[in-house]
Amino acid sequence: MVLVAPAFALPAVLMAPLVVAVGVAHLDVVVAVPLVVATLVARPDVRAGVTSHGAEGDYPDCNQPAHEGLAASFSHGSLILRPCGVCNPLASPRPGKLEGSPAWYKSAVKLALKWVGGVVVVLLLAVGAIWYTAFGSNSPIVDAAQLVPGVETVKDGFVSVFLIDVAPGKVALVDAGHDASGKAILGALARRGLTPAAVTAIFLTHGHGDHTAACKLFADAHVYALQNEVALVGDAAKVDHPVNDGDVSDVGDVKVETFAVPGHTPGSAVYLARGVLFFGDSAGASNEGVMMKAVSLFSKSSSQNVASLKALEARLAPRASDIKILAFAHTGPLVGFEPFAAFARSH
Ligand SMILES: [Zn+2]
Ligand SMILES: [Zn+2]
Repeated sequence: MVLVAPAFALPAVLMAPLVVAVGVAHLDVVVAVPLVVATLVARPDVRAGVTSHGAEGDYPDCNQPAHEGLAASFSHGSLILRPCGVCNPLASPRPGKLEGSPAWYKSAVKLALKWVGGVVVVLLLAVGAIWYTAFGSNSPIVDAAQLVPGVETVKDGFVSVFLIDVAPGKVALVDAGHDASGKAILGALARRGLTPAAVTAIFLTHGHGDHTAACKLFADAHVYALQNEVALVGDAAKVDHPVNDGDVSDVGDVKVETFAVPGHTPGSAVYLARGVLFFGDSAGASNEGVMMKAVSLFSKSSSQNVASLKALEARLAPRASDIKILAFAHTGPLVGFEPFAAFARSH
């Protein structure tokens, strides 16, 4: 038998998360892989494959090289792992050979837990790194911030909803948050002495669930979304006002302009109302006041997103002075048109 060479220790560690994921339906693999990795890392004698069984005294019948109860070998270029039938109580028992093995069993379980724990930590770190890359430098969302007179931010956890005053005692929403109970939105309405009936329109920037969750709370509201996003909105809301690029919708005293910016989703929209450009997830703001493209990880096409934003910037540049605020769903806002122009210059 040939034991695993040291060069395979690192690949084994790197492969462990994948193997664990695949092994959800194969608990034996989940237990076996950390054991082998632990053995390879912690036991240079095992890696060298030159010493005899680590518990030789306890298992006199096992004459294999040290292997912590798991025998590893190569066969036709493949790594074969199998429990050692002599000293491993998890393997098919050979009658009479397992007496005196509880200590090994206990340490094997401890070792397995330790390495499974290690794999979990590595996975958590990986998730944390991805999260930081995507959101770590975002400017924060400030609840109840008034962007311009008649436009208020509602912070619904990690996403913003915007209230636009459209008539006395009537508002429109830009998006409907991730919380189906609508706690933050209802709270903002209540602070004004308003009920859900005050919401006459909801403009969906796109159909992702963190923007549509509370739609159904506002039964009197007309729901707007780009025509080609209606399918993605799905059952979250009944889009009774499908709109197209360039449409201007009258809602109370306010005109809402729609721009198509495919990329984050195929039917992502940017809306312009009361001098505020609402980007949804199609862009964001960094802590340094820089406008950023949509987060690639969660977007259908990052290159299309950038191309759409640049085209919109060119289209709106002649009207730059009309645009007072750039508002984003997952970050704080930016002031004026210049950050948008700078984005277009740098991409
Ligand atoms: Zn989204
Ligand atoms: Zn989102």
